[in-house]
Amino acid sequence: MVTASPLSIQDVKKSFGANTVLERISLDVEPGEFMTFLGPSGCGKTTLLRMVGGFGAPDSGRILLNGRDITHLPPNLRDCGFVFQSYALFPHMTVRANIAYGLKLRKLPAAEIKSRVDAVLDMVGLEAFADRHPKQLSGGQQQRVAIARAIAIRPALLLMDEPLSNLDAKLRERIRFELRALQKRLGITTVFVTHDQEEAMAVSDRIVVMNKGHVEQIGSPTEIYGAPASLFVADFVGVNNLLPGRLQHAADGQAVVETAAGPLPARAGRATPGQSVQLALRPELIRLRPFGALPGEGPQLDGTVQLAAFLGAATRYEVKVAGDLVLKVAAPAGEPILPLGSRVTCHWPAECGHALPA
Ligand code: ATP
Repeated sequence: MVTASPLSIQDVKKSFGANTVLERISLDVEPGEFMTFLGPSGCGKTTLLRMVGGFGAPDSGRILLNGRDITHLPPNLRDCGFVFQSYALFPHMTVRANIAYGLKLRKLPAAEIKSRVDAVLDMVGLEAFADRHPKQLSGGQQQRVAIARAIAIRPALLLMDEPLSNLDAKLRERIRFELRALQKRLGITTVFVTHDQEEAMAVSDRIVVMNKGHVEQIGSPTEIYGAPASLFVADFVGVNNLLPGRLQHAADGQAVVETAAGPLPARAGRATPGQSVQLALRPELIRLRPFGALPGEGPQLDGTVQLAAFLGAATRYEVKVAGDLVLKVAAPAGEPILPLGSRVTCHWPAECGHALPA
């Protein structure tokens, strides 16, 4: 027997007037998975999440929750917990009453409500704050209450729309890890929306990268980071070496790209021979060695350091190589800093280059 995925989005389209906001989106979320919709402002991620929650219906397509078609069900009949960017707590109720609210609506017995509220207060570390009102809490504590309220109802699906974006950077980072740990401990299937690629990498099992209403790539953080499938994804996740060229030939996914600095190996991805491409290379995967040192394996280009900036955790270089190309390189902390004008050889593992259709 095939078990239905907790969430299945099938061929969903949505327009607001002449503005097509979602173009035929299809994806499935696995049981217990933390799935993130990632993309720039306006790409449609909130619209898609809201439809899953029942706040708006698609023009066509279906949304299934554990195999049941929920496309046109109202939010309260969907078995979804929601956490918003603004915590949306009831200001006149205590923390305990806020968390108990959804359980009372579901008419659970008082003893069950108390034990569930105590359990989630313990999970989010707010037992001591149960009798306070939201305005007596910090932003981070308020967001923990919102998370506690959403998980107390034990929803089939937890939906979170930029829940950490009102918190300062340090707290955001801490709550990210707490949230991830809690989600794994409870095994609760979660869909999360953010425009922050670092946040998406830190919390997700898989990421859906969206651009202008369509899906660019779905993959694990390491796949998205290490093998971006398109120029948009590469740019969005900070691959800032893009060398223009033409794909020469490809076999078994491995290709050669003719660039101004000569032929360089790359993974072919969706690119086909003859096509104009950009060869994407992450700066932190390029290594430098003194010019004239013994050659190693893999692709290499000789060049001259024309910019060096020490940033603490890494040193950023710009190295001018043949054909007036400039390679950006991030060298790990601890290596001696090379002075401007140094002659160096840039080298990297062949499989780190990706040919992306231009
Ligand atoms: P952000 O990170 O800024 O929230 P987003 O990727 O979540 O962006 P959406 O909020 O889904 O984007 O909006 C996608 C597009 O749909 C935008 O162009 C927006 O202006 C438009 N849009 C969203 N809701 C409505 C609405 N109710 N009526 C008209 N247009 C809308």
